[in-house]
Amino acid sequence: MTNPDTGYQVSRGTRDEDTPIGAAAKRASQVLTPGGAGTLPRPVERRVLTIANQKGGVGKTTSAVNLAAALALHGLRVLVIDLDPQGNASTALGVDHRSGVPSSYELLLGEATMSEAIAQSPHSPNLFCIPATIDLAGAEIELVSMVARETRLKKALADPVVESIDYVFIDCPPSLGLLTVNALVAAREVLIPIQCEYYALEGVGQLLRNIELVQAHLNPQLHVSTILLTMYDARTKLADQVAAEVRNHFGDRVLSSAIPRSVKVSEAPGYGTTVLDYDPGSRGAMSYLDAGRELAMRGARKGNR
Ligand code: ATP
Ligand code: MG
Repeated sequence: MTNPDTGYQVSRGTRDEDTPIGAAAKRASQVLTPGGAGTLPRPVERRVLTIANQKGGVGKTTSAVNLAAALALHGLRVLVIDLDPQGNASTALGVDHRSGVPSSYELLLGEATMSEAIAQSPHSPNLFCIPATIDLAGAEIELVSMVARETRLKKALADPVVESIDYVFIDCPPSLGLLTVNALVAAREVLIPIQCEYYALEGVGQLLRNIELVQAHLNPQLHVSTILLTMYDARTKLADQVAAEVRNHFGDRVLSSAIPRSVKVSEAPGYGTTVLDYDPGSRGAMSYLDAGRELAMRGARKGNR
């Protein structure tokens, strides 16, 4: 068919979703419609996942908040515990974390209960957060002299207020100190984000040894259930090499959805939100939705809790 005004050929069958922008808009509207993302099975028992990697900047916090938001969108009730004094997870979830707010610091020191420290994220009625304030920076040292210093978070999680929660994600700082040990004792699963970059596996051996130590002495059920490839750039050979090496090493514990390097993912925290809210149709948002779905389905299938 020819456009009578321009004389150009017009393709008859073109629909909005055939263009990249149209497709993104369609995905976004699906995700944003209540119930539009569909539902995911609730785990038989609450799943507690510690997100750890002592290498800095690999996507621990980004993965904690976006996986949490993805599961919340599917109707699951999710709690993120921010154990990093930087408080980046609290920021992304839109939760107040100024010094003095009841937070993970008071929780670990026994100065606040779970119900006092838990805050609702404005992004979803299913999403909750225990924020981290800068006070947490002193906790590594303050905890050293305390009784049962490694099991404080685990005890705090026994609170009835957590009973209705399906998933708990614990966002660790980039170190293997007492905060991370508390997270490893409180969880049953470890999720390790691995950045598809040079030195990707640097430090992972040390992390695995620490996990074994915690498993042997403090938490026999602890295991590395999930590896998530982050900042994957499909245009580079290096990303493929790293992904292949990680899959070779960790086998089917590696989620098949890798998170692409995406500007939208990195911009979202600046607006106090997750990429699922910031740009729900973007590749970054879609990849976290896929990874969240995979995580939930795997847990349901394998009894990974
Ligand atoms: P830290 O060890 O300091 O706690 P982290 O492991 O929690 O860091 P993030 O804070 O999640 O890492 O990410 C590090 C930086 O990389 C942040 O600026 C974040 O916005 C950016 N980033 C994370 N994931 C992506 C991605 N998929 N694409 C682009 N940028 C990303
Ligand atoms: Mg972080």
